[in-house]
Amino acid sequence: MQAVLVLNCGSSSIKFAVIDSGDKTTVLEGLAERLNSAGAVVTVKHNGEKQSLAIADANHEQALVNIVDLITSHCQHKIIGIGHRVVHGGERFSASCRIDAEVLAGIEACSHLAPLHNPANIAGIVAAQKAYPTLPQVAVFDTAFHQTLPETAYLYALPYAYYQDYGVRRYGFHGTSYRYIAQAIPDYNAGVLPEKVIIAHLGNGASVCALKNGQSVQTSMGMTPLDGLVQGTRSGDIDPAIVSFLADHTGKSHADITDELWKQSGLLGVSQLTNDCREIETGAEQGEPACTRALAIFNARLVEVIASYAGVLNGVDALVFTGGIGENSSTVRGKVLQQLSYLGFAADDDKNHATCRGQAGNIAAANHKPVWVIPTDEEAMIAADTLALIQ
Ligand code: ADP
Repeated sequence: MQAVLVLNCGSSSIKFAVIDSGDKTTVLEGLAERLNSAGAVVTVKHNGEKQSLAIADANHEQALVNIVDLITSHCQHKIIGIGHRVVHGGERFSASCRIDAEVLAGIEACSHLAPLHNPANIAGIVAAQKAYPTLPQVAVFDTAFHQTLPETAYLYALPYAYYQDYGVRRYGFHGTSYRYIAQAIPDYNAGVLPEKVIIAHLGNGASVCALKNGQSVQTSMGMTPLDGLVQGTRSGDIDPAIVSFLADHTGKSHADITDELWKQSGLLGVSQLTNDCREIETGAEQGEPACTRALAIFNARLVEVIASYAGVLNGVDALVFTGGIGENSSTVRGKVLQQLSYLGFAADDDKNHATCRGQAGNIAAANHKPVWVIPTDEEAMIAADTLALIQ
């Protein structure tokens, strides 16, 4: 039995999954978290059982040694390749690729665009090269799918030199998820991918992608994932003048305010309670005004973006919801579809409520355009790319 190891390395975590290269099932998965701290721990899930192991002060390399031990002791599979999620591929990477010294240098060269993420991805690649020195490794980029954006979508109306000199442009993220969904849609539509599809990936990080004939032509995250929709803790679009305004009036530094845009805004900032959409929905049901407000702003921005992408595409044939919120929140889906009735969308209430917790399918009312709920699977996509590139 052979398998691919999928690694998703954050600054203080490694998410991992072992995927059978034959039937593509997840054999084992887990998370090493709080790396480089006394509380570092690795948790592994195998055959429905969870096991945790303290790995105090472990860095990426040490954590990976423990992960390899856990994989070896829990499963019989022979690992034949490693697929890495890499956040930023800049303009250089428009597809997944085998990792060699040149590719690694390319990922490093994109680090200024994702200073929190790419260095962690590199740490993971280097650690995996040490743990599995003879195995092929593959990089799968979050940005790659959006390299088809036209100039009108990716250029900001800034002095052009900032694009030329610093690469300031829209790159877009969640690309691996959008690619997975684009490939999955025909399974729900008699083998056909409609010409104009809008996909909403709504998780803690949230974005929308306009898809024309299977290619990304607009997306709401920008040079960084801060842009676009209201997200769990990220502000999404704001007037850029707000940063200087707040710096002048609060005495805080630009860096501190930017940090607040990433970590203290979005659903958390507006609700003052939580970034968790489920808790916000519960609060709203109980009449908590802050939660009602946060949810309403989240939905309103989502409607604005989807509606504007119908303009970008000059029409829309179908919608897809994915990500933790998109896959589970019938409330968000229902409210958004109500607002988009002018585009020919309407929810079937029973189907909308029944399609959650991993269920997939069309939740549209009869005689309306399709609205598919499709659970995303970025790990499966990374494993598929890895297999395709190593075999
Ligand atoms: P990430 O971007 O971290 O991968 P996920 O895709 O796992 O995030 O989505 C997490 C979000 O999904 C959280 O806001 C969570 O509250 C939300 N979510 C999960 N289940 C539900 C549900 N039943 N109803 C509403 N929101 C949900």
